Amino acid sequence: MKILVLNCGSSSLKYQVIDMDTRNPITKGLVERIGLQGSELTHGTALQEKVVIKTEIKNHTKAIELVLEQLVAPEYGALKDLNEIYAIGHRVVHGGEKFAKSVIIDASVMRALKDCIELAPLHNPPNIAGIKACQKMMPGIPQVAVFDTAFHQTMQPSSYIYGLPYEYYEKYGIRKYGFHGTSHKYVSQRAAVLLKKPLGELKLISCHLGNGASIAAIRGGRSIDTSMGFTPLDGLLMGTRSGALDPAVVTYIMCRENLDVDQMNDFLNTKCGALGVSGISSDFRDIEVAAKQGNNRAQLALDIFVHDVKQYIGAYATVMGGVDGLIFTAGVGENSMSMRAAICKNMSYLGINLDLEKNEVRGEEVDVSKTNSHCRVLVIPTNEELMIALDTLELTHRKDTMHRAPTIHHGLVKSFP
Ligand code: AMP
Repeated sequence: MKILVLNCGSSSLKYQVIDMDTRNPITKGLVERIGLQGSELTHGTALQEKVVIKTEIKNHTKAIELVLEQLVAPEYGALKDLNEIYAIGHRVVHGGEKFAKSVIIDASVMRALKDCIELAPLHNPPNIAGIKACQKMMPGIPQVAVFDTAFHQTMQPSSYIYGLPYEYYEKYGIRKYGFHGTSHKYVSQRAAVLLKKPLGELKLISCHLGNGASIAAIRGGRSIDTSMGFTPLDGLLMGTRSGALDPAVVTYIMCRENLDVDQMNDFLNTKCGALGVSGISSDFRDIEVAAKQGNNRAQLALDIFVHDVKQYIGAYATVMGGVDGLIFTAGVGENSMSMRAAICKNMSYLGINLDLEKNEVRGEEVDVSKTNSHCRVLVIPTNEELMIALDTLELTHRKDTMHRAPTIHHGLVKSFP
């Protein structure tokens, strides 16, 4: 069975076709600069080669049309016929409070997705455009929406309500939602498999440390708190995002720099974080290199990041009453040995004891803690596309068979009859 996974951004589209028997992608690619000058599609063929198509790609409908052509291209397509696609899974950024789980898309879901636009004005419209384009071009194939926010809908009001007049939550939906949910869910399920324990018995702290970064406290497989908030700007210092600030700083900068709301929003999202502090780059690799060469501001950006992550680990261990597993994932978490080492330094009071030799890994699923470490430290490469495909398959297959649910082991779908 093959699932098409789509991730539509404002001017980009990432896609994979995953063979659910092997759980591996059989083809993947990226469309960039949709609606802009210089748009192009880079397609990984079934022969592991790359085809680059430079052409005008006006909108997401055109982008998906082009992607589908590549999937069945006679010379290098991974599929003979589009009917080989069993279902389509869409990454949707914001599901608000309406969606605590992935859902099969129908007319009422489309209406609810539109209602969520005001919560994610940059992200949800391209997601919806992608869904509409697929409905038009592959009308018979079921589609599923998988939300970045859904996993965190298990948080209690004490975690998600801000210290604002309660009516603002009721009127405008202002609350903590949390993001990266698909990633936190995937790595927590993999952690249970690695630790050979039921997810329901584990207290986990998942550190998704990439260009965007968030941490989640996961008790018994349920998110109970997370560092991102109403938007993905909150929490840790990130590549270009400020992370948490004293809110008074925002109005102060707006006054001093004479910035309007949109300019301030842009500033906080694109000019701050590690880029703003280091003055060098938003890329942690560049910053690590500069810090090694003695650049103090680069070192400061790294130190702030490590400090932020440590703070959340301490806070979440306290909130959960302990921690059995600390997970590192995403670009920095999976690859940066020095960052993992710095974060885990002096954490033995929480039972966290990193094995520096085992820690010499990149992008592998592995336990990097000492044998006597009470809390296991795990590197787990995230795989949001696979998680989307698994949810998509589970929902659509269940609908097909109606009476027969798939077999689930530790929350990861293992086999289908
Ligand atoms: P992501 O958003 O998950 O793709 O992660 C991107 C971030 O991961 C960028 O800041 C990269 O610099 C960082 N990254 C990737 N590989 C490494 C590495 N080997 N060491 C340090 N940072 C890395």
